[in-house]
Amino acid sequence: MRKKTKRIKRSVAWMIALSLLVITTSVGGFFFIMSELERNNNNNNNNNNNQAEIEKEKAREVKRVELINEANILVSGYYYQEAIDLLKSNSDIYNDKMKNEVKKIEDFVAELKLYTGRTEQVFFHSLIVYPELAFGPNSSQAQGYNYWMTTELEFQRMLPLLMERGYVLVRISDLYEVDAQGNVSGKELYLPDGKRPLLMSVDNVGYPEVRKKEGFASRLIIDANNEVTAVIRNPQGVEIESRTAEVFPIVDDFVKEHPEFSYRGAKGMLGITGSWGVMGYDPKIASEAATAKEIADRLKELGWEFVSHSYTHADGKYFSEDSTLEGVKEDTELFKKWIVPIIGDSNVFIAPFGITLKGELYQYFIDEGYTFYLNVDRRSQPKIIGKSVLMPRINLDGFVMNKDKAYITEHFFDVDKVYDSRRPVFQ
Ligand SMILES: [Zn+2]
Repeated sequence: MRKKTKRIKRSVAWMIALSLLVITTSVGGFFFIMSELERNNNNNNNNNNNQAEIEKEKAREVKRVELINEANILVSGYYYQEAIDLLKSNSDIYNDKMKNEVKKIEDFVAELKLYTGRTEQVFFHSLIVYPELAFGPNSSQAQGYNYWMTTELEFQRMLPLLMERGYVLVRISDLYEVDAQGNVSGKELYLPDGKRPLLMSVDNVGYPEVRKKEGFASRLIIDANNEVTAVIRNPQGVEIESRTAEVFPIVDDFVKEHPEFSYRGAKGMLGITGSWGVMGYDPKIASEAATAKEIADRLKELGWEFVSHSYTHADGKYFSEDSTLEGVKEDTELFKKWIVPIIGDSNVFIAPFGITLKGELYQYFIDEGYTFYLNVDRRSQPKIIGKSVLMPRINLDGFVMNKDKAYITEHFFDVDKVYDSRRPVFQ
């Protein structure tokens, strides 16, 4: 019995030991398996984390390339600080590569040259789009158009040639400063080596009935893409929208392709004349004036500026050798009443017929806030006179390309590469 008990006791002890062993082993195994699992899991997590980090870095790199491209476009448009600010705008992606890009721009800016050469201003009228109409047998003034107008083809040929010569569109405010007392002084302009400023203006920008049938645009509109586009009657008599029927869409599209042709978004000036309508709209009809204002606002966003080209654009007591103070006052009052509400204030006056008023008449424009008086003169340079600047402009039209070909070729472009052979013989 004792023996049996002993045996039982022994086997119980064995069983307990065995169970303990089994338990221990399985617990150990359990822990072993658990930790193995966990390790695998961790590895997976690590792999996932690495993968996620790689993906994140890829996304950051994509963003970097994007910003560098955008910054380069800004630099070509002379927006240097803006480009640097853009590169530094996202600390998440700012690394040595970005730092290096910033440094490249800073080095480029350090190399800019103070511009000290001539200041040229060119001007145009509305473009001849269909020479067969403008110069055709039914044209109201084929000879006048041949003298004072530029064809769309010529204008399109000029832009790349002007750019090749280093010209860059600027604003008057890039060249001059006017203080609160109305004193005007030159402003320093730094440009990349070889670049030179170009002011551009377009006179009248109104479309009289007769011209709508003679191959000129009929009006400007804001198109479906929120761009300012011309509407023109084609030779078949059908009105069409066209990006090449006026100076404005042509320049807008050209600058989009060549940002280096526009200094910080500058385009040109529209010299508005009351009696011709505003871009094809009658300023005295409220709904048309409202449309004209919308178009003016959009053009301003696109870099264009609006200036006065007088209300009447008439000779006699207004703008001629016989101008009177009463005449120019009356004209200016009309301009302020009907046109300024549409285009806003401006300190630029483009004299009709390029006439340079004298004495108290010239002073009147300065007193009315027109600091910049623009006439026509192919050789002179801008001159500060009292609290004003008398600025010459040069017409790049049929007359000048014929009569002053060598000068134009020397200063602007090779006339032979621009001149439209569809023009009638110049007489
Ligand atoms: Zn004019």
